[in-house]
Amino acid sequence: MADFVDIVKIHIKAGDGGNGAVSFHREKYVASGGPDGGDGGKGGNVVFVVDDHVNTLIDFRYKRKFVAQNGANGGSKKCTGKSGESITIRVPRGTLIKDANTGRLIKDMSDSEPFIAAKGGKGGAGNVHFATATRQTPRFAKVGTPGEEYDITLELKLLADVGLLGFPNVGKSTLISVVSAAKPKIANYHFTTLTPNLGVVKIADDASFVMADIPGLIEGASEGQGLGHYFLRHVDRCRLLVHLVDVASSEGRDPISDFEIINSELERYDSELAKRPQIVAANKADIAEPEQVERFREYIEGKGLEMFVISAATAQGTRELINRVYERVCELPPVTVYESEPEPIVLETDDKTVTVTVEDGVYFVEGKWLLRAIANTNFGDYESVQYFQRILRDNGVIDKLEEAGVQEDDLVSIYDIEFRFIN
Ligand code: GDP
Ligand code: MG
Repeated sequence: MADFVDIVKIHIKAGDGGNGAVSFHREKYVASGGPDGGDGGKGGNVVFVVDDHVNTLIDFRYKRKFVAQNGANGGSKKCTGKSGESITIRVPRGTLIKDANTGRLIKDMSDSEPFIAAKGGKGGAGNVHFATATRQTPRFAKVGTPGEEYDITLELKLLADVGLLGFPNVGKSTLISVVSAAKPKIANYHFTTLTPNLGVVKIADDASFVMADIPGLIEGASEGQGLGHYFLRHVDRCRLLVHLVDVASSEGRDPISDFEIINSELERYDSELAKRPQIVAANKADIAEPEQVERFREYIEGKGLEMFVISAATAQGTRELINRVYERVCELPPVTVYESEPEPIVLETDDKTVTVTVEDGVYFVEGKWLLRAIANTNFGDYESVQYFQRILRDNGVIDKLEEAGVQEDDLVSIYDIEFRFIN
């Protein structure tokens, strides 16, 4: 287990938006200029992308905090601050991004589209925007909005069409290495392979499937013994299982009992998984006695399952196995991709502190929870705006504004939105 990491908790933070500047135009011989404070720059995003060269989450063991750059503050002469750089986090295909606090599935990283998991804050407007006929020297600008920040867990659920099941040392790694371009470690001691290997098995130029070697499934795995528990997760999504046994009993175990033990582990872990179609491969035929093969064949065919006799080491029979696996994979429904779960209504979960400050007759409202409410409002839609107003009223924002002395028609500013107060 030492170098297999398939669940990690990390912290991500997008960059804050830069603040708008308060500045006034200055020029030699010109007495006093108008406002020229520029806007703050946008904060960088935290973006996830799938990298097919990565098979584990091991890189996250040492680096657990990912922070995108903040936007720079605006400058004088209407200069907009520089946008913060986004950061890109590479994960294996099939990584689930979940909210660490609620377990909500945010995104299944199964396609190749980049996914923005935390959005950078918006830059605040500089004072150049706030000059009006009656307010020629606005001495305020807006602060940038904070970047989104989350604790998330990354959980790897490999996306393979076919999972290779079997006791240690039955020849899983050998098989995957002869039928695909993957070159896993092969050795005749247990648990050589600690990371699941993915191999693309090419049947023809336009025909291939992905096979995962799931190492270390042993008795007791569904109760968390051994390594199997960790790896079983990865067969969850397979369409088909290839169940490999050592038909030669080269380590003294009986292939029939191996087969039954592995299947009862599956059943205990997930009965759905146990119903996944299986093709049986009787491996190490090169060193097996014909009677051993026949005895096993009788047992497997008695169960109505398909069996192939192979030798992964000499590649005997592997072509036939792979061709049949491909045929079956084509008939089966595609690999499951999980739907993102909707965000909960934030109002119930957040701390609803609000502060109101008044500067130059403008009422500035701040409260982190309001950012979500704003993000969820479509300000072009009447009903959505009504709903937003109700949120403000029901959560004491209007009361706060009134306490601060707001009057009809005063300007209210909540982060990047602005409106006239009407009661
Ligand atoms: P895994 O633990 O299931 O991945 O098994 P490996 O692929 O690492 O193989 C374990 C041992 O069995 C290695 O020494 C292999 O060389 C050997 N082996 C694998 N397939 C065959 C085979 O078809 N015939 C023989 N004789 N040995 C094999
Ligand atoms: Mg192996």
